[in-house]
Amino acid sequence: MADDLKLPIYLDHHATTPVDPRVLEAMIPYFSEVFGNPASKNHAFGRDAHRVVEAARDVIGKTINVKPQDVCFTSGATEAINLAIKGLFLANRGRHQHYVTVATEHKAVLDSFHRIESEGAEVTYLPVDGQGMLEPQQVIDAIRPQTIMVSVMAANNEIGVIQPINEIGAICRERNVFFMTDATQALGKVPLDVQAMNIDLLACSAHKIYGPKGIGVLYCRRSMPRVPLIPIIDGGGHERGLRSGTLNVPAIAGFAKAVELSLKEMKAEQPRLRRMRDALYQALREGIPDLKLNGHPDHRLAGNLNVCIPGVEAEALIIALTDTIAISSGSACTTAAVEPSHVLRALGLSEVAVHCSIRLGLGRQTSRDDTNFAAEVIATEARRIRFLATH
Ligand SMILES: *Cc1c(COP(=O)(O)O)cnc(C)c1O
Repeated sequence: MADDLKLPIYLDHHATTPVDPRVLEAMIPYFSEVFGNPASKNHAFGRDAHRVVEAARDVIGKTINVKPQDVCFTSGATEAINLAIKGLFLANRGRHQHYVTVATEHKAVLDSFHRIESEGAEVTYLPVDGQGMLEPQQVIDAIRPQTIMVSVMAANNEIGVIQPINEIGAICRERNVFFMTDATQALGKVPLDVQAMNIDLLACSAHKIYGPKGIGVLYCRRSMPRVPLIPIIDGGGHERGLRSGTLNVPAIAGFAKAVELSLKEMKAEQPRLRRMRDALYQALREGIPDLKLNGHPDHRLAGNLNVCIPGVEAEALIIALTDTIAISSGSACTTAAVEPSHVLRALGLSEVAVHCSIRLGLGRQTSRDDTNFAAEVIATEARRIRFLATH
């Protein structure tokens, strides 16, 4: 069956994605042909580059339903998140500040909050239920008179859980609290409408949607209400003073193309991923009857599967699969040291269960043959590891 498969098969699309060939093609003219600095407005080279950037800003703004001038380019979602949290904190210096976030957020969010906590802010980290979901009522209960902002991610990078950000946005707006969402995993996969969802700050990144690495966006609302931010990177005053530094024109052009493609193909691609993911889960359950799903069965990204295989150490399984499939245990972003995933711990999994959990992320070039093959090798290797542990 695996004869015509190209091994290893990449099933780690939450960590990053390959650049789509159509995205690469859209980027190429902006390395050597149209190479000007968009800030050099006194000659054609600069003006041509400036036009490319503004066209990209338009495309990205339209897809999330915001004004293009409120789109600020950054080096990625991590920087966008840092700018939003630290920038808002600095803008409110001298006041008693309270923030609300969730235990299952990405480390970029949690560590930025830890930083401002050490500078005097108060932060509430809301727990989630056993399936990783937040209840809107928890946000209502957590908001106080001093609350500046609530930050809830749209979709989780480990368990794919999609939070009720529509309801949370309405709650925040009604109470005059800013609402931020880390939409890095949601962009291009689930519909996002900043106006309808009452989002004031939104972070996203190109490399999770088949765009290049090192480019992201912070959307920051500039009116009704205006979100005050103090920049964390100072210099030439680019991006309306919010983020200085010469713009990465090819990456910005690639990001726009990636967003455009993801949106255009979302309606067909997401059901395709869901069907493959469901079949993979079904096949894994047949091969490993005591397999457990981590995260909500329905409120989750179509391409995401996260499962616990009791008695099978994820690290051992991943090593056994080195030549066949590329998957992740816990979150790749924090595996410089192998610490148990804070997300799975927040669902109430024991440390042992966390260490027996794997994340599978399907993507644009994943085929049914890939998932059939993956189910077979994972089940075979898991059974082999169990056999070795008991004999
Ligand atoms: C990947 C990811 C980030 C970090 O994005 P970078 O652009 O790699 O810095 C933040 N949040 C989530 C949910 C992610 O998946």
